[in-house]
Amino acid sequence: PVVTRFAPSPTGFLHIGGARTALFNLLYAKATGGTFKLRIEDTDKARSTKEAIDAIIDGLSWLNLDWDGEIVYQSEREARHAEVARGLLETGGAYKCFATPEELEQMRETARAEKRPMRYDGRWRDRDPAEAPVGAPYVIRLKAPQEGEVTLQDAVQGAVTVKNAELDDFVLLRSDGTPTYMLAVVVDDHDMGITHVIRGDDHLNNAFRQLALIRALGWAEPSYAHVPLIHGADGAKLSKRHGALGVDAYRDMGFLPEALENYLLRLGWGHGDQEFFTREEAAAVFTLEGIGRNPARLDFKKLENVNGHYLRIADDARLVGLIEGRIAATLARDLSVEEQDLLLRTMPHLKPRAKDLNELAASSAFLFRQRPITLDEKAEGLLDSAGRGRLAALREVIASVGEWTTAAIEDAVRDYAVREDIGLGKLAQPLRAALTGTTTSPGIFEVLEVMGREESLGRIDDQVG
Ligand code: GLU
Repeated sequence: PVVTRFAPSPTGFLHIGGARTALFNLLYAKATGGTFKLRIEDTDKARSTKEAIDAIIDGLSWLNLDWDGEIVYQSEREARHAEVARGLLETGGAYKCFATPEELEQMRETARAEKRPMRYDGRWRDRDPAEAPVGAPYVIRLKAPQEGEVTLQDAVQGAVTVKNAELDDFVLLRSDGTPTYMLAVVVDDHDMGITHVIRGDDHLNNAFRQLALIRALGWAEPSYAHVPLIHGADGAKLSKRHGALGVDAYRDMGFLPEALENYLLRLGWGHGDQEFFTREEAAAVFTLEGIGRNPARLDFKKLENVNGHYLRIADDARLVGLIEGRIAATLARDLSVEEQDLLLRTMPHLKPRAKDLNELAASSAFLFRQRPITLDEKAEGLLDSAGRGRLAALREVIASVGEWTTAAIEDAVRDYAVREDIGLGKLAQPLRAALTGTTTSPGIFEVLEVMGREESLGRIDDQVG
């Protein structure tokens, strides 16, 4: 059975690239009836923080990216990592290296002069450790193959080959007994039974070293899928300026989790030309081969459109719950039960017009203003003397509507417009200004209905009275 994992290093927030990696791992597990695990790679104690771990867990939870079983903390497994390195010493797959910092610095300098990456020259590879001074510190290095090449069959990148001569005898265990990232990843993936490693293609180079170690240990090799990173709209590597933010920032910007999920899914993965997928639909057709080879570009406009789609189909009561806090913060008070109900009744008219939750909250603000409401400048402009005159006449038409429904109010106003030979816009604009204090709102007849007869006429009277 397939076992995938998401293995973030908790040194910052859960950025959207990480969220997409987690999503792909989860979907692949779901698609194959496997399991999806979470491992926190917190071995870098100087850079890993509790806040970052919480941010990752919060972000995953917000996106409903639920993992199976307990979280594995890599830092708790250091004894096991060391044990594996020492085991390799015994079988001759690794060796102790006593090279001093000065010797290593020399190798670095030579590499710099020859303009190539630093490679450890293998000076302790075949040397007797007994030659080292007593008690001298050492690291454990992998005795990596020096001839031939390694080919990795990557589900996304295809076959990628590297000459073994390019990979040096890298360090497994540091002189203080702590594992390197390379060792920890291999041991943890093995012990967790990971069958598929799906991660950013910035790890492709590591995969060759990890494979060399896996082979030295005689362990089963996982399948790999290295996913191209997300780039900014201009094609450059994603930076803060482009929106390389934590998923919490996207939540604050008013995106729905299912919208961000669908956007990230479609960013670099496709299935025909279907645009929107539920989690179940995606899992039913998800394949690693469907992941594109080119870096995807982050496109906020697209994300907003996707969000608009999910807002339109979202449950009204849920949306009320999601924006209530934002409205309360602006009003500096909580909404009453009546106001919550008013918001719920207005929601079908508000949500088709918003592209994020902040806009949705702002577009509902007129509902909660206390009479007499203040008008913005444009609305004030519509209520010049001509506008006020038309509004005053219209007030009587509206006041005499029998049943207070959108249809009845609309009929009455339209009849009046025809009778008086006035364009409907000439009536609707001052009406909207008086009722909402702004020049944009849902359909004005819907506004009249949801606000009710008394409040509507009251707001009109405040302008014409
Ligand atoms: N911890 C690594 C990172 O956050 C990922 C390691 C892996 O997926 O193998 O980039």
